[in-house]
Amino acid sequence: MNAYLSNLDQIESWFFNLAEKQLFFLPKKTQGVNYRFEPIDHQQSLDLLNYKPTILPPGKNIFPDDEILFSYYKDDDGHYQFSQGVTVNSQLLAGVRACDLKGVYLLDEVFSDGVKDSHYLRRREKTDIIAFNCMTPCDDHCFCEAAQSLDFQMGADIFITPLFSTSHKGQANEEQQCLLEVLTPRGNELIKSLESTECSSPQDLKNHAIASRPQPFGRQFSAPIEQLAKAIHQKDADSVYQQYAEQCFSCGTCNLVCPTCYCFETKDELNLDGSSGKKTRHWDACLSPGFAEVAGGHNFRAEPAARQHHRIRRKFDYLPQRFEQTFCTGCGRCGRQCTTGIDIFNIVNDVYLSVQESQE
Ligand code: SF4
Ligand code: SF4
Repeated sequence: MNAYLSNLDQIESWFFNLAEKQLFFLPKKTQGVNYRFEPIDHQQSLDLLNYKPTILPPGKNIFPDDEILFSYYKDDDGHYQFSQGVTVNSQLLAGVRACDLKGVYLLDEVFSDGVKDSHYLRRREKTDIIAFNCMTPCDDHCFCEAAQSLDFQMGADIFITPLFSTSHKGQANEEQQCLLEVLTPRGNELIKSLESTECSSPQDLKNHAIASRPQPFGRQFSAPIEQLAKAIHQKDADSVYQQYAEQCFSCGTCNLVCPTCYCFETKDELNLDGSSGKKTRHWDACLSPGFAEVAGGHNFRAEPAARQHHRIRRKFDYLPQRFEQTFCTGCGRCGRQCTTGIDIFNIVNDVYLSVQESQE
């Protein structure tokens, strides 16, 4: 691994240069309120340090909400011809926070497991990531440290850590020095166009910057995440799920904004000629009422409480058993976007406390 030093001004110019060569996404404030990953433009003022988490995580650029899996038609000899629907363009996602990087890493694990998802993996191969480390919690919803995703850097081509306090916006730019860790051959290519100097003691500088972070960093659970996961596995805590389900509209927003939710449904669309058509896939949401309904009308999770329970176990129990990682990155999006303020942080904490109480 190589490491370099550069300042924020130089990094921003570098981004604008890279954007002239390839499709380049960066968090951008839209309609003066929310941030979204959008193609960079030259009028844009960059806000790498203090941007609030985007509504959708950057991983959704690799796993889109609506795509053609394949299309087909019958040729003149009566044989069906198939073509794969995926269009793959190179893209660069920059300013990706560690929690969202972990989200991409977990999607990589899921879509590479068993039968490989060629659509996702082809897009992923063409996606470069420049991640940006957090020095202050992004807002009151964040719990990335408690969810063990703070400082996560697997999956990035370059990982940038600011070596200055990001809460003081008034500092002169020449002081805003950053450490750039190059983690892949692609990162080595990208960094060639940055004005920088090689760094001989990256770990010391990084440790020093990390030590100056506020403590605790964001919200903390009542117990380490391993103990929470054990409580969620051990006991159903139905009353907790019921309590949250009573406020839930079953809209599925919490699923759609989550960096680690990947469930989808497929549709067959036959054209009027009766011999051509396509198969498409679309995101699905386990909190929506029809998610577990099967042919014949039986619904395995007709009650909202059963759906909340299922979601919590997916994130903290079922998927961690398979992939050895918690499938909640602590990004806080579900709590931030939920109309009724339901926050997964509170649900898992309450499940843990209720299991503790029942054992006393
Ligand atoms: S966003 Fe809130 S209201 Fe909608 S399904 Fe999720 S928890 Fe329920
Ligand atoms: S469950 Fe909520 S906090 Fe956890 S990763 Fe998904 S959106 Fe983020």
